[in-house]
Amino acid sequence: MKRIPRIVARYKALAEVDENFESYFSFYLAMCKFIDGNKQFFKDNLKSKWGLDILMKLDFQKYILESPDLSLVSVRQRIKESENLKSASLPMLINSYLWDLVRIYSDEDCTRCGNSMAYVKAIEKNKKETIVLECTFCGAAKNLDGTTFKTVDGDFVEAILPVTQDEILLALDQINLPYKEEK
Ligand SMILES: [Zn+2]
Repeated sequence: MKRIPRIVARYKALAEVDENFESYFSFYLAMCKFIDGNKQFFKDNLKSKWGLDILMKLDFQKYILESPDLSLVSVRQRIKESENLKSASLPMLINSYLWDLVRIYSDEDCTRCGNSMAYVKAIEKNKKETIVLECTFCGAAKNLDGTTFKTVDGDFVEAILPVTQDEILLALDQINLPYKEEK
């Protein structure tokens, strides 16, 4: 019989617990607890590589969408059937589930590849925060006013965070303000 890696077996066991799938909030929480409870596997560098550290630190109640594009019934089923899952895929998979719960899409498509763009907060090394539109497929980013997003020092951004609806509205308001004043 094929031996399932211990971390995958533990992950699979999450599907047996009803309360993990009671709400989007409880699912998010269950994923965070799973990561936290398996520190041997989810070492700090692995968590930061996949942005899990950021997603765990988030006050996620504020960010979880009312109706995200993720069905808890099918996620539960997928977790249940994960005996062939490679443990190395786990961080990426959890990252993608958690992002599905918090990502706010815009109605714009990427000019490079045509896929959907989402609102995210880009954090630069100097801690400057900018809300930008990021392609969920190729990662192309632009400012909310449509101009190309460039970091101050031309470096890669340090982190990408989800944003709330309020933060988006505020950011949109801010770019409209000088325009209004000109009138
Ligand atoms: Zn793209």
